[in-house]
Amino acid sequence: MDILSNPKVTKDIVSKHGFKFSKSLGQNFLIDNNILNKIVDSALIEEDDYVIEVGPGIGTLTREIAKRAKKVIAVEIDKTLIPILEETLADLDNASVVNEDILKLDIKKLIDEEFEGKRVKLVANLPYYVTTPIIMRFLEEEIPLKNMVVMIQKEVGERIESQPNKKTYGALSVGVQFYSSVDIIGIVPKTVFIPQPKVDSIVIRLNIYEELPYKVSDRKKFFKIVRGAFAQRRKTLLNTLSSSLSISKEEIKQLVDDEIDLKRRGETLSISEFVKLYELIYESK
Ligand code: SAM
Repeated sequence: MDILSNPKVTKDIVSKHGFKFSKSLGQNFLIDNNILNKIVDSALIEEDDYVIEVGPGIGTLTREIAKRAKKVIAVEIDKTLIPILEETLADLDNASVVNEDILKLDIKKLIDEEFEGKRVKLVANLPYYVTTPIIMRFLEEEIPLKNMVVMIQKEVGERIESQPNKKTYGALSVGVQFYSSVDIIGIVPKTVFIPQPKVDSIVIRLNIYEELPYKVSDRKKFFKIVRGAFAQRRKTLLNTLSSSLSISKEEIKQLVDDEIDLKRRGETLSISEFVKLYELIYESK
């Protein structure tokens, strides 16, 4: 099989099958071998690793993952890509394709049935229109993952890895860093895809915590505090907490009891401080 990341090879396969790129499915295929290797290298795949790939396209990443892993299952929503994948992955007996929407698939069942219930790795050049829901689904449902290496929009990656007091710091930063530590692997120019997207990309690795470092018994309530604090960024914690949690300012002052300065803005709080705030508000009684 020719190297799929070669632009001519990609164009030839696509036109041979009469495939039409779908903008609404976020189809921008990778055509650069260096970036391909960088993505797969950064997943640190070992020969006994099981890998899930989201959105294989024509199988460019899938082939490289299969060379290194014990087994890869690629989940592709677009049925018109299936005949192409049957051709491009035909010589690999440890790569298979599931024609499903990753947001609807029963992932835990797939891991139990195909991967002996073991912790797996996720590698993907994600469709941009559903980047955040896909990442958050894997994290919030605590799908047993070792790490997640994803190529996403640069701007989203910057928000994910951001820290307190930065403009890009927000509910997404806290949401992802609650479950994982984030490594930036590198920025990827828009020129390495066909068709070319409008914006540059970034490759990030989320190293998923096997045991969560933050102890929060009611995550819904915790993230309500977090979202509330960022919903009105320019307001003090006292104001945002009172309005988002529908608790009077007096009561909030009593509960927090100066342990955290309520004149601060939400964007200055670290995750540990949000956890502290949650404990004071919901667990101090
Ligand atoms: N991995 C290929 C590559 O790097 O060249 C293709 C990446 S392309 C950015 C995103 C892929 O995700 C497309 O093949 C698209 O059809 C697929 N996709 C879009 N939405 C999906 C979903 N909800 N579930 C599974 N696959 C999806």
